[in-house]
Amino acid sequence: MGKWFKKHGKTFRIITIFIWIFIISYHIGVYIGTPPRCSETYTYKLGKVDTIWGFYLDKEDLKTIINNAESNWENALGENIFEYNPDSPNSIDFVINIDSDTPRRQLAITNHASYNNHGGKNNYSITVYNISLTYIFTTISDYPEFTTEELLNYYLEYILTHEFGHVIGLDHVDNEDSLMNVSNFTEPRRIFELNEFDVNLLKQFCD
Ligand SMILES: [Zn+2]
Repeated sequence: MGKWFKKHGKTFRIITIFIWIFIISYHIGVYIGTPPRCSETYTYKLGKVDTIWGFYLDKEDLKTIINNAESNWENALGENIFEYNPDSPNSIDFVINIDSDTPRRQLAITNHASYNNHGGKNNYSITVYNISLTYIFTTISDYPEFTTEELLNYYLEYILTHEFGHVIGLDHVDNEDSLMNVSNFTEPRRIFELNEFDVNLLKQFCD
């Protein structure tokens, strides 16, 4: 060993130095190039609320539901990710979809084009369609133990939490119990809570 080190010690030291230079510059590059995920606050405002929505929920109700939806992710991460700001370029719109070009079966959509790029400069607007209301009203009879208001609150919070997941950068997953599954709603509950799978999904993404 001593003999080996005498012979190769210098080479060994040089290689070690190069490895350290590589590790350090890699991390600096990563840090400068892309801000750490989930580190920037997403601002939003309440945008359009088409008439049909006004029959069931006024703007303050909607703001409360949106706020509950953002809190689901924030409480799981222990950080502030979303913030209401009336001057934000990002809006959350509740619309009636009568345009045949837009997807008929879409409950809601986030501007997917840029949801994976962070920095707050992109447009992450969320559109909730009237079909989500239709969905809620067709399932009401399945849950007689819930009031209409409770179901409305539950499903809208669910839909918005899903869309906020996309804003964070989360994609759809196959796990049927996940909020980020494209087609599944979990059984309604009076108190909404992210399950362990979704909390881990968030933490792994943001780490
Ligand atoms: Zn989705």
